[in-house]
Amino acid sequence: MMRVTSSCLTNVDGYYASLALKAMRMGIAMAYQSQLVNEYCQDVLFGIPRPHPMRVNLGVLDPDYVNALPNGHEPFLGFAMVQLARRPEWQEKARAAGAKGLRVIASIETGQEMIQRWSIDEAFHGFTGNWIMQEAVLSSGCVDLFAVDMNCSMPIDPIYAERYRFKLIPVSDLVAFEGIEERLDYEPEKAEEQAARLLEMAIENFKVRRGAVEPFTGQPVGEAVVGFSTESILEALGGTLDPLLEALKEGTIRGVAGLVSCTTLRDSGQDVHSVAVARELIKRDILVLSMGCGNAAMQVAGLCLPEAAELAGPGLKALCARLGVPPVLSYGTCTDTGRLADLLAAVSSALGGVPIPDLPVVAAAPEYMEQKATIDAIFALALGLYIYVNPVPTVTGGPKLVELLTSGCRDLTGGQLHLEKDPVEAAEGMLSHIEAMRKKLGI
Ligand code: SF4
Repeated sequence: MMRVTSSCLTNVDGYYASLALKAMRMGIAMAYQSQLVNEYCQDVLFGIPRPHPMRVNLGVLDPDYVNALPNGHEPFLGFAMVQLARRPEWQEKARAAGAKGLRVIASIETGQEMIQRWSIDEAFHGFTGNWIMQEAVLSSGCVDLFAVDMNCSMPIDPIYAERYRFKLIPVSDLVAFEGIEERLDYEPEKAEEQAARLLEMAIENFKVRRGAVEPFTGQPVGEAVVGFSTESILEALGGTLDPLLEALKEGTIRGVAGLVSCTTLRDSGQDVHSVAVARELIKRDILVLSMGCGNAAMQVAGLCLPEAAELAGPGLKALCARLGVPPVLSYGTCTDTGRLADLLAAVSSALGGVPIPDLPVVAAAPEYMEQKATIDAIFALALGLYIYVNPVPTVTGGPKLVELLTSGCRDLTGGQLHLEKDPVEAAEGMLSHIEAMRKKLGI
């Protein structure tokens, strides 16, 4: 990390290929030393994700309840809040304040980490969506507490807090807002005490909000099946990867796409391109595993329901019916990429050691935006995957670097970056790669 950061300073490493290799080494370290450890520790603490239904979309917000929203990417205080909110005495405190009850609402990637592991009930009510949803969520007039950890809370949030009368509380020392002094930086050993303080703030806020803000209601509520992980996929397949491998070998499904995406307004509306790409992939009998803010896009768009198999090609549709799963498997957050690499390693060894670049799999980031997504993409290249990326990254000023990423990397790691703005063309590109790998494997 220190070597790579130092390499980026002025007049240190001036060779694009050397910098690219260092970036790939960082990508590998990020996946195996950071992401996997992070996700497995969360599994130890809160449970391995297993499939279950989840309420999604803006309609999960009801103004008559005290609504506490943990937001960011670190779910520790969020889980602690749910644990407390499930106790009758906390529900009673909310009712004493005039609310119908107390709800913790999952939001953005902190929420995604939570919904993958825990089921809904009266206290843990559902999931709003990804980060671009934030302004709609905050202006709904339904929010009492926005507890902000690590990432994806916007500099404009204090203006919303003032206008829509909710408590905006940073809970990570990484986060700061102009004009917001009150904070409660997370300390693991004090998690329960801190969660209790946050819920008290939310309950105290309820009367203030209800007295001052006209809520915006009647928003849609959808459903998604969430909680697929390598372990739960194996369980769904009867303890072995064989049914999936058979489907791949027979050609029932042509391949698998790991869709790890953000969401961006750069080229189209929120999630429009991601959803279009996913629909084109499943139509071509490509099973999609979705992660990140793009996963929320799939959930809200209804693609993480078994009924969405109607939109899939005949092979994938039959596989979904046989296994009772959706054509898009909700696989977690953008930090589950390391977990996905583990699944690919398991597939590779189950096929007798097929090198990862030769597998009929692709990665896709249809609406990449954040730095973390760039690291995921670089890791995919280092792992030897074909990765589809949109919008066009800011590398076009370096023609040799573009050449390295889009073709030269193939000789180095097997990886290849593909850029394309049209969803149909993008899906066709991924399918051609998958078909070429199938041919190479003789399947
Ligand atoms: S990196 Fe992308 S997917 Fe991950 S939290 Fe940020 S915007 Fe969402």
